[in-house]
Order: sequence, then C-alpha cells, then structure tokens
Amino acid sequence: MFSVDVGPQYEGETVRKEDFQIEFGGPKHKFKAELVTVKPADQVEDEKIEIIGKDIKDFEEGASCPIFMKIDVAGEQLEKDMEPVFERRLHMYVNYMEGFWHMAQRDEIWMRLHKDSFKKGLNSLEEIGRVLVMLYKNELSIIEKIQITFITDPALVEKEVLEARKIYQARDDRLKGITEEEVDEFYGCSLCQSFAPTHVCVVTPERVALCGAINWFDGRAAYKMDPEGPQFAVQKGELLDPEKFIYSGVNAIVAEKSLGSISGFCLHSALESPPTSCGCFQAILFYIPEVDAFGIVNRDFLGETVTGMKFSGIAGEASGGRQNEGMLGMAVSYLRSKKFIKTDGGVKRVAWMPKAIKEQVKDVLEEAGMYDKIATEEDVKNVDELTEFLNRVGHPWVTGQV
Ligand code: SF4
Ligand code: ZN
Repeated sequence: MFSVDVGPQYEGETVRKEDFQIEFGGPKHKFKAELVTVKPADQVEDEKIEIIGKDIKDFEEGASCPIFMKIDVAGEQLEKDMEPVFERRLHMYVNYMEGFWHMAQRDEIWMRLHKDSFKKGLNSLEEIGRVLVMLYKNELSIIEKIQITFITDPALVEKEVLEARKIYQARDDRLKGITEEEVDEFYGCSLCQSFAPTHVCVVTPERVALCGAINWFDGRAAYKMDPEGPQFAVQKGELLDPEKFIYSGVNAIVAEKSLGSISGFCLHSALESPPTSCGCFQAILFYIPEVDAFGIVNRDFLGETVTGMKFSGIAGEASGGRQNEGMLGMAVSYLRSKKFIKTDGGVKRVAWMPKAIKEQVKDVLEEAGMYDKIATEEDVKNVDELTEFLNRVGHPWVTGQV
C-alpha cells in the first residue's frame, strides 16, 4: 500500500544532513507551518489530498523547500479546542514513516526525507498525505472526514503562515489571567518519549509546554478526547514548596512517567531540578556563570550566542530528556508568564537574547523595566562585552538592585 514501512518503531529515527533527499521547512526558511482546523462536514472533502506547488519528485536531491501543511477535519463530536491536539499528533504520525523525520511545531516545523526512502518510491507528498489520512482515521475515531493540502509554492506558503500565526496567537491568548493556584489539575504530555525516553512535559495555566504547541487548555482537551493517549491529567496534590513550586502530584507523575529516572520538578526553575527537555523547544534558557544570569536563544537564531555557542550546540546539551541544571527548554511565550523562572529571579535575571525575541516580547520586558537592560547580538559579541553592557545599563540582577 505504501512505498515505505509505517509504524511507531520509526518514530525515534533522525535523518542527517548528508542523507536527506529533500528537506521541508527548518531554519533556512522564514515561512513554514502546520495547521489543523475543525470544519463543518460539508466543507471537508474526505480523503482529498492536494499539492499546490512542486512535489518531492520535482526537486533535485538535497533540495530544501518551504512548506505549509494544512489539514481540515470534520466529525460530529469534534470541538474547536481539539485543533491543537490533532495538530500535535502530526509530530508523532509523520515520524511513523520510515526515513521521514519531523521536528518542532506550528510555524517552526522542519522535516526531512531520507534518500533510501525516496529510492524505495516515496517520491510524492500525496503518499505522505495518504499515510496521514490513514493514521488520523485509525487512531482518532472521532475524526470522520479529513482533507490534506500541501503547499510548497513560496509566496502562498508565506500568505498562509501569516494567517496561521494569528490563530496560534489566539490559542495562547486564551490563557491570560488563569493561574496555577486556581486550578486543581495540570496536564502532562509524554509524546516525545520516542526521542527522549525520560522526558515529561508538565503543562500548567502559567507554563506552556516547551514545544509551544500544548498549553493547559490543549492538555485538557487532549485528555478529554483520548484519556489513553500521550496527554494525561496531573493532580496537583500538595504544594510542598511555594518558592520552588514543587507539587507532590507533579513529582509522583514525573517519577512514574520517567520510569523512576527523574524524581520531580521545580516547575519554575532552571537551576534546581528543572523540568526536562526533549528536542522540540522553541527556545533554550541557558545559565551564563560569568554574570550569574541567563541567556535565551531561539531555534531560528542561527548566529553565535553571547557565549560563542550556537542554538544547535546548546540544543545538543539541553535535549534528550535529561534534567540539566542551568538549561531549560522553553516556549517563547513562557516569557509572558508571571511565573517565568520565578524561583531563579524571573525576567530580571535575563541578560541576553536575540533581537527577534526581544521585539516579540517587548511589551512584557517594558512592563518589567527590562527592555533596555537586556543585551542582544547587536549590542555585545562576547561575555566580556556583556559584563560591561550590564554594568553600564544598570542591569538589576547583575548590579544587585533587584
Ligand atoms: Fe508533548 Fe512536550 Fe513533546 Fe510538546 S514537547 S509534544 S508537550 S512531550
Ligand atoms: Zn519533543
């Protein structure tokens, strides 16, 4: 039926840069995304797969191309809230394909097809569409109709991504004002354990998952839809330490899901028992010992950070499901949380970030009086220059004025 094998056994495999036939999305392209939308049944043509733009076989070996994957679903019991949950399943299902690798989410996706799988005959997005149709319908029986469109035409991809960003933003905005204290249940996700076997995400109203694709509402919708699926409920239990945000219920489930290898999390700390990271983080918070403060680097920042390391190098250290003190994979929107690394000093302890993130969260930084205190790649090139910058602008943490 398919040119390559399909199954969970392929989920953890990666495709290296020497081995790919074609790459979709990733850091070379400003615009790429995946979006699932729930639609009325009469607006979804079941099992229709459409390709707008060039197909895999039209490209040279080693090509890299922008992509927009648009999936429309319909079903009696489907709710709008389920869209992010279906969307996140793409990470799992695309990786089920032998020789196909999918990374990240939303407008940051990155995919590669291995040359060997291409040689076996996987030379069209249409086949990938058929695999996805089969998996979605088999694994999520509430989906009654599904239609998939792959767009590779760069101008159209750009247009769709700009629209999709408004939808992602609206999903994140729903959480505004809800606190951890006022809910009894958090949610968790272990979907990434195929790549990072001890990794568990704990999602609270004030802590979106590091992939940025599962927030508290999404966790709740996912659990309700499929209680046996990768997302689960986490009873908060007792707040054992209000400074470190240690909850008995969180620790119990983290220990269980990590098969005993991680005993618990300080939910809002990067320095002491931080939450684990797989590889899907939108950004990484990293400790800079020379200034006793943090830097943040996002996936799309390709240059060197202030410590001389690039995102890829830091990601290598931060990923894999380990509990890495001084490193924290995070969603960029975690910066908007009032509990953002609260145990470690919050946003006042951030010393460096790329200009692009600084602009993205400008309102938050201004509110905290930190917009002018945080250096970017335009201000400093190394840690010595950073120290000088922080002293010059009177950075509150570094100059001890918090
Ligand atoms: Fe789930 Fe976390 Fe992986 Fe996102 S990063 S899919 S929330 S385990
Ligand atoms: Zn992951």
